[in-house]
Amino acid sequence: MRNPHAGEPFATSDEEIAAALLDVSIPTLMLSLVHMAGDPEIIRGRLKPDGLFLNEVQGYMSEEDKAEVRTLALDVIRDYRDRGCPEPEPISAALLHEMMAWLVCEEVPDEYVPMLLEEMELDGTDARRVSVPIDAAARDAFPVVVIGCGQSGLLAGIRLKEAGIPFTIIEKNAGVGGTWWENSYPGARVDVGNHFYCYSFEPSDQWTEFFAQQPELQAYFEGVMTKHGITPHVRWETEVLGAAWDDAAGTWSVRVRAADGSEDTVVGRAVISAVGQLNRPHTPEIAGQDSFVGPAFHSARWDHTVDLAGKRVAMIGAGASGFQIAPTIAPDVARLTVFQRTAQWMFPNPNYHETVGPGVRWALRHLPFYGRWYRFLIFWPGCDKGLEAARVDPDYPDQQTAVSEMNELTRQMFTDWIVSQVDDDPDLIAKVVPDYPATGKRTLQDNGSWLRTLTRDNVDLIRSGIEHIESDAVVTVDGERYPADVVVYATGFHVTRILWPMEITGRDGVDLRTKWGERPAAYLGITVPEFPNFFCMYGPGTNLAHGGSLIFHSECQMRYITQCIEELVASGHRAMEPRQEKCDDWHERSQRELKTLVWSQPSIKHSFFKNANGEIHGLSPWRLVDYWTWTKAPDFGDFVIR
Ligand code: NAP
Repeated sequence: MRNPHAGEPFATSDEEIAAALLDVSIPTLMLSLVHMAGDPEIIRGRLKPDGLFLNEVQGYMSEEDKAEVRTLALDVIRDYRDRGCPEPEPISAALLHEMMAWLVCEEVPDEYVPMLLEEMELDGTDARRVSVPIDAAARDAFPVVVIGCGQSGLLAGIRLKEAGIPFTIIEKNAGVGGTWWENSYPGARVDVGNHFYCYSFEPSDQWTEFFAQQPELQAYFEGVMTKHGITPHVRWETEVLGAAWDDAAGTWSVRVRAADGSEDTVVGRAVISAVGQLNRPHTPEIAGQDSFVGPAFHSARWDHTVDLAGKRVAMIGAGASGFQIAPTIAPDVARLTVFQRTAQWMFPNPNYHETVGPGVRWALRHLPFYGRWYRFLIFWPGCDKGLEAARVDPDYPDQQTAVSEMNELTRQMFTDWIVSQVDDDPDLIAKVVPDYPATGKRTLQDNGSWLRTLTRDNVDLIRSGIEHIESDAVVTVDGERYPADVVVYATGFHVTRILWPMEITGRDGVDLRTKWGERPAAYLGITVPEFPNFFCMYGPGTNLAHGGSLIFHSECQMRYITQCIEELVASGHRAMEPRQEKCDDWHERSQRELKTLVWSQPSIKHSFFKNANGEIHGLSPWRLVDYWTWTKAPDFGDFVIR
């Protein structure tokens, strides 16, 4: 069988190929040429990229050099086509490593190579798929309940199906996608490049934008779900209220409530929680908010029946969601008043709204391994570099606005980006330049649309606190009254209340929320002592603020979980839970590490990373390569297995 990443054979004309080459990433193209021609000399000459930049689209080479590559490429591709598009010969490990380093213009340390090769699947093997031969009757006797059908719950279903483990996914919404189902607000789009923000084993050559919008993301997950036959396993519009472990039976009883209000119980031998961390909308309590007579809704509960055209809209909160909503609705509304408590740092990304040209889509479909190398190219800049950039230098003076020399350089770079856009408006500059260290909160991707919006005549940015809301206005602490017809709460989620509001009861009646209190902890972010056969995806300590993608983390977690379940099934054991000391050690080390990173800085007053005590328990302070290594295979010595 042909390697699925070797590209579909084609008979495209020379003219069409030449046109496609105008769109593509030239450095990525050159690596595909190496595969097609079987000739490494293609990358050993003068033609090479000048540097590595985040969110590369076309490649950093002079226009003359790009033109030269296109001429060479046309010859190689024409020859490959005329030979019938044969599957390229495998390439040696040494050459693959050389190609990696060449593409990103720097050494790629040896320890990263196995992880990257696995991510790229150049050999056509999905190494994160786990399936060991186990007696079918034993598998059938081990049903698993998955909570949630977002990106991680869908992945859980796919992997369980591949392993032949029976499962039911319980999903409170009417469709797949989780975040990408619920957040349908105007302008919702992902800010991790989509050719990486998709399952490693399910690349798509159909993205129409490099950072796709919500409908396209939801459609992607829908397509993957259908392709893998997961739909019949899902109970839609059914919410999990809680789950209780029966130690004698070795089962979880999962209490669910259907859309009609009826409740029943689903029994499984294991539970996988895939509910995400950013799912339960947070609407702050503001005096008088119930007296507001017009429509008022949260960004994740967008009311599409409300026509905003010609309305005065008050948007409370301007984090990642508000940052996308404002530029999208501003042209239509009569007036938009944005109430922002904390200014946000934003990363200059001119390609943020860029569309994917037809040439790129053609290359993704037909040129051998083009999509795989492009995936690596956009993965690599976010692969652990951000973690070192987030490290606090304890000797760095005045940690209020920067925590290290590198962090100060980032602050200056981000500030220049802001100032360059509104340098004639010192009042606005004073409002929009953050007063805390760069990358201390989640950094937003920006192509200039935010500040362009704020400079519109019909948009105001208010940094004063809100005092109360009246029937038709928002009133700030300085007594200003801002009339409004609609209030949008873009105020984020209950992020620190992990797994809330579900009631999870483990061995000996232990309640998970009581056990965790303000300090949720799971071993590797996945398993919890006293909660046998309970597995978390995107659990405590696994959110990513320094790079990578949650899909990458989910794939690591689900490989680990599948192996745990298979071990239980194969061995006939009833239950496994991590040793308490293992979990404590993991949590303590994570806490120590987090305190060395910028997100913990006390000068950051409001951050959804922090709980009420200023502690961080949701984020991972670890390198992706470490997490990948630790989750590659469970060490069953870490568990009490009964
Ligand atoms: P968020 O980042 O938590 O932003 C919430 C906003 O509401 C902030 O401006 C916050 O101010 C404000 N706020 C909260 N409580 C408030 C209160 N009591 N009074 C006044 N203001 C208040 O939430 P989000 O914008 O929904 O984004 C959440 C996360 O979802 C993101 O960080 C990201 O991980 C994800 N997301 C991603 C994308 C994307 O991929 N492009 C898009 C949307 C969301 P403070 O800053 O002062 O707390």
